[in-house]
Amino acid sequence: TADLATVDPEVAKAVAAELDRQQSTLEMIASENFAPVGVLEAQGSVLTNKYAEGYPGRRYYGGCEHVDVVEQLAIDRAKELFGAEHANVQPHSGAQANAAAMVAMLEPGDTILGLDLAHGGHLTHGMRINFSGKLYNVVAYHVDGETGRVDMAEIERLATEHRPKLIIAGWSAYPRQLDFAEFRRIADSVDAKLMVDMAHFAGLVAAGLHPSPVPHADVVTTTTHKTLGGPRGGIILSKQELAKKINSAVFPGQQGGPLEHVIAAKAVALKIAASEEFRERQQRVLDGARTLAERLSQEDCASAGVRVLTGGTDVHLVLVDLVNSTLDGKQAEDRLHSVGITVNRNAVPFDPRPPMVTSGLRIGTPALATRGFEAEDFAEVADIIALALRPEIDAETEKDLRTRVEVLARKHPLYAGLT
Ligand code: PLP
Repeated sequence: TADLATVDPEVAKAVAAELDRQQSTLEMIASENFAPVGVLEAQGSVLTNKYAEGYPGRRYYGGCEHVDVVEQLAIDRAKELFGAEHANVQPHSGAQANAAAMVAMLEPGDTILGLDLAHGGHLTHGMRINFSGKLYNVVAYHVDGETGRVDMAEIERLATEHRPKLIIAGWSAYPRQLDFAEFRRIADSVDAKLMVDMAHFAGLVAAGLHPSPVPHADVVTTTTHKTLGGPRGGIILSKQELAKKINSAVFPGQQGGPLEHVIAAKAVALKIAASEEFRERQQRVLDGARTLAERLSQEDCASAGVRVLTGGTDVHLVLVDLVNSTLDGKQAEDRLHSVGITVNRNAVPFDPRPPMVTSGLRIGTPALATRGFEAEDFAEVADIIALALRPEIDAETEKDLRTRVEVLARKHPLYAGLT
C-alpha cells in the first residue's frame, strides 16, 4: 500500500524529472501528445490487476463484469467516432494492431505493397527485419523525387506487376493527405485488400478535419497516443465480414490478456475525441503546422539551406529537408534540444546522409496544441525554430532563444495539479 515515492524513490525521482522535462520544454515530436489527466487516471487504475482473456461477454476468466463494461464502452465509442462496423480495442500498440490485421488477411509468403520506410512508411509496412518484412514478400512504393508526394502511378504499376494480397496506405513521416479512393480503385483492380494505417492522423479524422479512410478500406488500424491524444495503444477497425478473423488474430493469435486499464483509458480518450473542444484543438494543430511550414519557407531559411518537403503541409507535421544545409539532421535535432524544443531527426526521401545522421527533421504540433497553444504562440515557436536552424548561432542567441521557449512554456502550464 506504500506510495511510489516510498516504495521506490529511484523510479519516483525519474518520473518526477520526466514530468518536469515535459513541463519546461516544448514537445514537438509529431507522434507524441499529452494524455489528459482522466486518461492517466484510468490507465493508473486497479484495472491493471484483471485478467480478461476473450471479449466482453465471452471471457475465459471470472470477475469480468466491470472490465466488460469498460471494454464495451471503448468498442462502441471507437465504432461511433469513426463510423466503423467493427472495432477491436485490445492491441497493445500500433505495431501489434498491424501485425494482427495482417495475420487476419494474409498467409506467410503473401505479397504486400507498402510505403518504403525511407520515404515515410512505418517499420510494420514491410521493413526488412520487422515481422512484416520477414513474414511477407514486400514490394515498396515511394514518393516522387520532384513533388515529394506519394506516386500513385508507381503504386498502380507495382500492383499490376506484383499482384499483392494487401496494399497498405499510411505513413509515419509524410506531410500530405492520401487519396484513399484511388488506393481502393487500385486495390480492386488487382483483387487486393486495402489496409489504412491512420496512426498519425486519426485525431484529425476524428475531428472531421481529414478525409476518413473508413469507407474505403477493408481494415483501418491506428495508435491511440498520437493525434488522438490517448494512452499508448492500438485499435483495429474493420468491415463486419472481417470481424471474427480480426478478433481471433488479436486474441489468441497475437496476444494473451488484454490491458483493461489501457482499454479504459482508450475509452476516455475516445469520449474526449468526440467533443467540440477536441475538434477545436485539432484545428489549432493544423493551423500551427501550416504556420510553421510558412515560416520555414521564408527567404532566410531558404538561404540557410532549410527547405519544407512538398512545400507545405495538410496535416499535423512539417518535414524539414536539410540536404542543402551545413547542419545535418542530428545537429539540427541537438540545436533545437539546446534551446528547449524536442523534435526528431528523420531521413528525407533519397537522403544522402546515413540513417543515424539523416538530412531531415520531423516537427509536429499536436502536443503544443493540447497544451493550449494559439496562433500567436505557434508563430513565435516557428520563428524560434527558423532562427535556431541557421548554420551558426552564437551563445548569446542560443540563450535568447531558450528564454523565448521558457516564456512560452510558462504561458501554457502543463499538468498543473500533478507532482
Ligand atoms: N503505424 C504508424 C504509421 C506509426 O507511425 C507507428 C508509430 O510510430 C506505428 C504504427 C506503431 O505504433 P507503436 O509504436 O504503438 O507500436
